[in-house]
Amino acid sequence: MTVSAKTAALQKADSAHYLHPFTDHVDLAKKGARIITRGEGVYVWDSEGNKILDAMSGLWCVSMGYGQKSLIDAATAQMNILPFYNSFFNTSVEPAIELSALLAEITPPQFNHVFYSSSGSESNDTILRMVRRYWDLKGEKQRKTIIGRKNGYHGSTVAGASLGGMTSMHEQGDLPIPGIVHIDQPYYRENGLKLGVSEDEFGLIAAGWLEDKIKEVGADKVAAFIGEPVQGAGGVIIPPKTYWPEIQRICDKYGILLISDEVICGFGRLGTWFGCETMGTRPDFMTFAKGVTSGYLPLGGAMVSDRVVDVLYKDGDFNHGYTYSGHPVACAVAVANIKLMKEQDIVNTVKNDTAPYLKKAWASLNDHPLVTDAQSEGMVAGLIMLKDKTKNEAFDEKDNVGMICRGHCFDNGLVMRAVGDRMIIAPPLVISHAEIDELVGLARKALDATLSDLK
Ligand code: PLP
Repeated sequence: MTVSAKTAALQKADSAHYLHPFTDHVDLAKKGARIITRGEGVYVWDSEGNKILDAMSGLWCVSMGYGQKSLIDAATAQMNILPFYNSFFNTSVEPAIELSALLAEITPPQFNHVFYSSSGSESNDTILRMVRRYWDLKGEKQRKTIIGRKNGYHGSTVAGASLGGMTSMHEQGDLPIPGIVHIDQPYYRENGLKLGVSEDEFGLIAAGWLEDKIKEVGADKVAAFIGEPVQGAGGVIIPPKTYWPEIQRICDKYGILLISDEVICGFGRLGTWFGCETMGTRPDFMTFAKGVTSGYLPLGGAMVSDRVVDVLYKDGDFNHGYTYSGHPVACAVAVANIKLMKEQDIVNTVKNDTAPYLKKAWASLNDHPLVTDAQSEGMVAGLIMLKDKTKNEAFDEKDNVGMICRGHCFDNGLVMRAVGDRMIIAPPLVISHAEIDELVGLARKALDATLSDLK
């Protein structure tokens, strides 16, 4: 594609110096990056002036959309008052105090305390240390193992990538670290269809894999189980309704701590403030990031339940902290973001209005010759493209059908993400009915173009 001289120069400098996250740099050097320059509402614009409907909310984070003045004003005001101070050694800052109280109010009742980081990965790293320290203080030092799930995603730091179950990440850097094991994911199409059971029956079977693993490791050695309410980066894998309640029952039975990774599902994405409320669990920890500030500034954290705080913070220092824990500007933006969410009653709007509207519109794609399982939960949705729907026949990996479709989306003014042959979206929570119609129309256009490429 020919681009303007300005874009070409930016692409050249980008590829010469900038190491991107999760990017094939040989391919990047060949094609040049798409440079996003501006955002407003649910749309972004690239350096060529193309308007693109951002159905991924940046990276699952710009929940309240681009250009929200109250967030920008909160950041500017706090920058002027106090751009930074730390919260180490008996100091504190007002925005972090205000945000902590707000979080205690909107999270489930067992949560009254929060520890801050700057990202989801750091939050999950923090949890690993908290969980192990908790069991040490409880006098059960042998409880060290944390169980995660294959194809789960918990970040890119050493602990985050180890807790996650991405083979492509484990292969690079000798992961997972010792003491972290994984069970299969509750993905009906991949693991359930072949069993010939209903989705609800499969949910119980998949949860049972946790009990099998606990027995294999030894019940007295397992410290915690971690999972995303809906797996996001793994391809929007929506578990059967029976899955999470059974996981909770198993955790209770063996006295194992439950960690709900709410980095994507938190802050209204599933139509409840937190994903665990949709799924019916009572976690001991919730990690969060992204939507807490609508992505306007980096902030993450871990909500820690009362029963854990009572052990972990009653015995002197817990020697853990980041320079930017409770960063005043990030916290001020989070306060403004949560206030805006409340003012707009966005969580109820998602639950009762836009999520049901999206569900129906998205499911209409199921009649497309390529598409099966076009499903959604709240404001996340996914579909799979199959080579032959009637025979449930998948595409060959080398067909790269997901990336072909993703390219057509971009060319038609839509950001959709490809995970293998799955196409996924997580639009801003503020998306309107008309914008949902536009999104689904553009998705269908990209699917048509993909189909004609494959002929
Ligand atoms: N946990 C989940 C569920 C995520 O989706 C992500 C990022 O996408 C992370 C953790 C890591 O967050 P971060 O990229 O902010 O480190």
